[in-house]
Amino acid sequence: MSRSHDLFTAAQRHIPGGVNSPVRAFRGVGGDPVFFESASGAYVTDADGKRYIDYVGSWGPMILGHAHPEILAAVTERVAMGLSFGAPTELETLMADKVCELVPSMDLVRMTSSGTEATMSAIRLARGYTGRDKVIKFEGCYHGHVDSLLVKAGSGMLTLGEPSSPGVPAALAELTITLSYNAIDQVRQTFADIGNQIACIIVEPVAGNMNCIPPVPGFLEGLREVCDEHGAVLIFDEVMTGFRVALGGAQEHFSITPDLTALGKIIGGGMPVGAFGGKRAIMEHISPLGPVYQAGTLSGNPIAMTAGLKTLELIGEPGFHDRVAAQTERLTNGLEAQARAAGIGLSTNRAGAMFGLFFTDDGPVTNYAQATACDQEQFRRFFHAMLDQGVYLAPSAFEAGFVSGAHGDAEIDATLEAASKAFADLAR
Ligand code: PMP
Repeated sequence: MSRSHDLFTAAQRHIPGGVNSPVRAFRGVGGDPVFFESASGAYVTDADGKRYIDYVGSWGPMILGHAHPEILAAVTERVAMGLSFGAPTELETLMADKVCELVPSMDLVRMTSSGTEATMSAIRLARGYTGRDKVIKFEGCYHGHVDSLLVKAGSGMLTLGEPSSPGVPAALAELTITLSYNAIDQVRQTFADIGNQIACIIVEPVAGNMNCIPPVPGFLEGLREVCDEHGAVLIFDEVMTGFRVALGGAQEHFSITPDLTALGKIIGGGMPVGAFGGKRAIMEHISPLGPVYQAGTLSGNPIAMTAGLKTLELIGEPGFHDRVAAQTERLTNGLEAQARAAGIGLSTNRAGAMFGLFFTDDGPVTNYAQATACDQEQFRRFFHAMLDQGVYLAPSAFEAGFVSGAHGDAEIDATLEAASKAFADLAR
């Protein structure tokens, strides 16, 4: 038996399900989760010493690849100066200036310690600002484990087949209206019916938690219009897409300006960080400027700011995003061609350096209903065939994949070679 197996057995003694975040448990694909020991560039190494080409990238932050030497050096230098002060540092100003420069819709930004805190605080702010209670979200979108947003959610909720969580009071869930992603008519109708009760729309501008589903033309534009017409706040949850789909996030890529933006993952360079921000007139309602309360013991932590700032600096290098997007395209085009040759129905989606694989003859996949109708058994078999050959994909059919700047031609070619064998197995 593998060391991962033994470690998983030991982990289950005192950790619920042996993991500290549910999707890690491999419930979506079966088998024991792989325990990792180290990582470098495009590769992760497990507890048995086996190396994998990694398309999870810690679920998004590692856009430069793992253990980037310049990030490690900056963090190591900073660690020697103390780990946390709970008082302001210059690093936070540098971070805020950088974020507002890269994401021009943001005039003010507040740091948090996770993406969940960022979305949670953004909807509280939208409610406080508008004096309204209702929130619109979209089926299959995941915005962290916020009570109001754990209704028909994606990611682990979808993987575990329980898209709405017990423990969320019905009185709160009633305030969350869930509509179909990419269905602007449903949004217009809802606003026509009860527009004056809606505080905000929160949306993943490219959905990445029901696999990867880009917005259809007109969807994000329509959201902007209805929010303007009805005085509701448009929140882009760019925790996943921020600094990935483009340097300025999906809002830059699609040229839509949200009122508030939630960030996470890349902004912390692998450390626990989130952020939310937006228009000055709205952000001024946050404490201590305004009455909407929000706080955090470790918010703006100096080590996390250092890792994030160095990451943002390095990915700001001209051509970085074009290069990673081109590698992503090479990967998805190659996978589609190989699946076709093997007689396997595969449709792929892609936005910048994120991608989705759908086992279906019925592509392109543009919504939750289509995503959940894909052949999950084929995905499971594909996942394990790739894992055996040293390619680590997200262990769920409902997660996006991520390519990093460290994924060169050699890694993409090796992945495609492994995939051709995996598709051949599936066809058998
Ligand atoms: N929003 C989106 C779009 C996410 O993908 C995630 C996490 N995958 C979150 C919010 C929550 O972030 P965190 O896990 O850091 O709380």
